[in-house]
Amino acid sequence: MENDIKPLKHRGLGRRSISVRWMVNTLSVAAVLLIIANICVYYFTKRYYYGSAESYVVSEAYASQTILSRLYEDLSVNFSSEVRNIVESFDKKEQMELMSINKDGEVALSSSGFSTDREYFMPDYERALQDENGLGVYLGRDGGDNILAVTTIIENSGSNYSALRFVTSLKMIDNQISGIMFTTLLLSAFILLIVALVGVYFVKSICVPLAKIGGTAKKLAKGDFSERIAVTSSDEIGQLSKALNEMADEIKNSEQIKNDFISSVSHELRTPLTAIKGWSETLEGGYDPETFRKGMKVITGETKRLEQMVEDLLDFSRIQSGHFSMQFTTIDVIAELEDALLIYNDKAKKENILLSYNEPEFMCAVEGDKNRLRQVFINIIDNALKYTEPGGSVEVVAEKSDSAVTISVSDTGAGIAPEDLPKVKQKFFKANKTKHGSGIGLAVADEIITLHGGTLDIQSELGKGTTVTIILPLKNN
Ligand code: ADP
Repeated sequence: MENDIKPLKHRGLGRRSISVRWMVNTLSVAAVLLIIANICVYYFTKRYYYGSAESYVVSEAYASQTILSRLYEDLSVNFSSEVRNIVESFDKKEQMELMSINKDGEVALSSSGFSTDREYFMPDYERALQDENGLGVYLGRDGGDNILAVTTIIENSGSNYSALRFVTSLKMIDNQISGIMFTTLLLSAFILLIVALVGVYFVKSICVPLAKIGGTAKKLAKGDFSERIAVTSSDEIGQLSKALNEMADEIKNSEQIKNDFISSVSHELRTPLTAIKGWSETLEGGYDPETFRKGMKVITGETKRLEQMVEDLLDFSRIQSGHFSMQFTTIDVIAELEDALLIYNDKAKKENILLSYNEPEFMCAVEGDKNRLRQVFINIIDNALKYTEPGGSVEVVAEKSDSAVTISVSDTGAGIAPEDLPKVKQKFFKANKTKHGSGIGLAVADEIITLHGGTLDIQSELGKGTTVTIILPLKNN
C-alpha cells in the first residue's frame, strides 16, 4: 500500500500554526490592553475637562447669586432692571451665554442678544426649582452640540425674573478630547504594529531554526549521520541543536563500534571454528591415537575459547539490559585471586613468562560475588599473559589497608598507547588488534568492580608494560 504521508506539508502546517498561534495570542492580548487603556484615557479626560468646565460655570452661578442677594437687600434699587442690566452687560459672552428666565419659566433675556422666542429645553431649570440651594446643572445635548447649562433661582418674589441660566457649548472641549483620543489611538496602532513586528521577528527566530533542526532530525532518522546543525546561539534552540549534534555523534560512534564489534566478533569466531572444523575433518578421515589426542585437545581448547567469548557477550548484554545479577556473600578475596592464579601457573610456565606472587599472611573479607570476582582476576591475569612476550614477567601483589584491599597485576608486556589508555575500559575497544579478544573483558571487569564499590585503574607505558590496580572495600568498613 502506498504511503500517504506528506512530510513537507506537515512541516509547513506546524510552522504556520506556531506563528499564527503566537501572533494571535500576543496581538489579541495587546489589543485588549490597548482598548482598555483607550477607554480609560477617554473616560478620565472627559471627566477632567467636563468637571473643570462645570466647576467654572457653577462658580459663575454662585457669584451671580451672591450679587443678586445683595441687590435684593438694597431697597433703593430696581431689582428687575438690575437683573436685566446684569444679563445685557455680561462680560463673559465669549465663553458662555447668560439668560434670565421669567416667572412663567420662559427665557426672557439673553446675553447673546438673539431672539428668545424659541422653545428651550431646560432640565437644569427644573432641577434648580427642586434643589434646596436653587441650583440645577444639565450636561447633555441641545441642538447639534453638547452643552453645559447651570440655572440659579432668583429668590425674589417681587421680581419679574425667577432664575438666571448660564449655558456654554462643550464643542471646543469635545474637539480637544477628540484630538487627544485621536493621538492615543494613533499611538495604540503604532504599539500594535511594533508588537506585531517584534512578534514576527521572534517567531521567525524560533521557527526557522526549528525547521532546520527538524530537517536534520529526519535525516538522522533515515540513517544519514553526516549533517550537523550550526549552533549560533546559547539559548534553548542552541542547546537543542547542540544536543542533537551530540546525539548524532554518539549514534555515529555507536554505529562504528557496532560495525567494529561485528567484524571483530566474526573474526574471533572464525579462528576457533576453522580450527575445530579442520581437526574434525582430519579425524573424520581416520586417525592414529597421537593425532586423535592432539586433535581433541585443539577442539576442546577452541570450544572453551568460544564458550568464554559467548559468556563475555552474555555478561555484556546483561549489563546493558540491567539484568547483571550478583550473589553477595562474605568471601576471602585473596582465596579467589589464588584460584585464578592457579589456572594460569602452567600457561605462564609454558610461555616462559615469570608469574610471581607473594602469598600474603592475611585474609581479606569482602562482601562480594566470588565467581564474578574470580572472573575479573582471570581476565586481568589472562590479559597480562596475553600481551606479554616470552621472557617477560607478570607480578601479582595484594596489599591490605584498614578499609580496603589493593590487588595489582603488573606485566612487562606490550603496554598501551597513551591515546588508547582512556578507551580500553570501553566495551568492544581493542588497542591491540594482533591478539585474540573481543574487547569486552575489561568493560565487564570494570562494571563488576564498580558494583562491588571498588575501582579498577589501569596504568601503562607503551613497550614497557601495564599495571592494573583493583581496590575493593573490606567488609564492615
Ligand atoms: P580483549 O579481549 O581484547 O583483551 P579487554 O577488554 O580485556 O579485551 O582489553 C581491552 C584492550 O585493552 C585490549 O584489546 C588490549 O589492547 C588492552 N589491554 C588490556 N590489558 C592489557 C595488558 N595487560 N597489556 C597491554 N594491553 C592490554
